Amino acid sequence: MNFNLSPLSDDLPWHEKQWQVLRACVTKDRFPHALLLHGPMGVGKRIFAQRVAATLLCSQLTDSITPCGQCQSCHLLGTSVHPDFFLLEPEEGTSTIKIDQVRMLAERVTLTGQFGDRRMVVVDPVDGMTLGAANGFLKILEEPPAGVVFLLLSSRPGRLLATIKSRCVTLPFPIPPDNLAASWLASRVEGSPEVSLSLSLGAPLQALAIQSGQEDLIALRQKMIKELYSVVSGNGSPVNVSNLWSKMALMDVLAKIISWLADIIRVKMYLPDEKLINKDVVGELKSLSRFFDLPTLFRLRDTAQQLSADSQATNLNQATILADFLCTIRALSSR
Ligand SMILES: [Zn+2]
Repeated sequence: MNFNLSPLSDDLPWHEKQWQVLRACVTKDRFPHALLLHGPMGVGKRIFAQRVAATLLCSQLTDSITPCGQCQSCHLLGTSVHPDFFLLEPEEGTSTIKIDQVRMLAERVTLTGQFGDRRMVVVDPVDGMTLGAANGFLKILEEPPAGVVFLLLSSRPGRLLATIKSRCVTLPFPIPPDNLAASWLASRVEGSPEVSLSLSLGAPLQALAIQSGQEDLIALRQKMIKELYSVVSGNGSPVNVSNLWSKMALMDVLAKIISWLADIIRVKMYLPDEKLINKDVVGELKSLSRFFDLPTLFRLRDTAQQLSADSQATNLNQATILADFLCTIRALSSR
């Protein structure tokens, strides 16, 4: 996701605590050699990492410990060609980081820095490595070259090798408070932040993408609710629908289902429509509510939450998990 937020632009307002931690490290000149930034997608981990890299590479840090924006290092980072900054991410058109990429990184980071001793490596996402790549990367972390700082980004830290995780200092990036995210969004893009934040489950950068029309999640949500209705009403096949949905990350699909179930529970409890999160699909949610009683809805929500927690660690086929869950939903409905 590119929002023209360069490493030299302002800090995101919900990153204040994380910055306090890092600036304290810089002040004491004791920076961990590997930092694991973990939290949901769309909270700005990558922007934070780029800005940390800019801070540690800047040769004229300001008193407030922010990059000066003037030195050669800052200029080079602004144009993405800094010789001491390495970004390891899946190559275009692929979804995993491969062993060859890790080998190339290993060669390059052992060379001395061009501007000083410090070199920065950002890995995004560190949980997206093949097993071979992860083992290769572990070797680099076990004997890190002097002066290299690794910033490892993950929205699924449960999938990381425990041996990689144990070599990192972890820094969590939770979903920010709604009011903070909403006022930030309102200052950047027109329209009401409420719907986009509900669609993005509170992740501000994803909400920004939705609101600026980069992601048509509203249409996607309406389509998915219709597909769920077809399964519950007995017209659609759980296997076909799960095949469609398994093209998305399992966590994201489950998060949507949990949010719908929470709203259907609100409908069942006679809460007014404005208390619902998914306001644009109220009609569909009400139709779905007729198929379930409250104890069943609570049970389904618990199951979805459990599946979501397990999905961090499991290697089971996503489509199978979703098909099983859709079969359960259908079996527990009263048609
Ligand atoms: Zn600078």
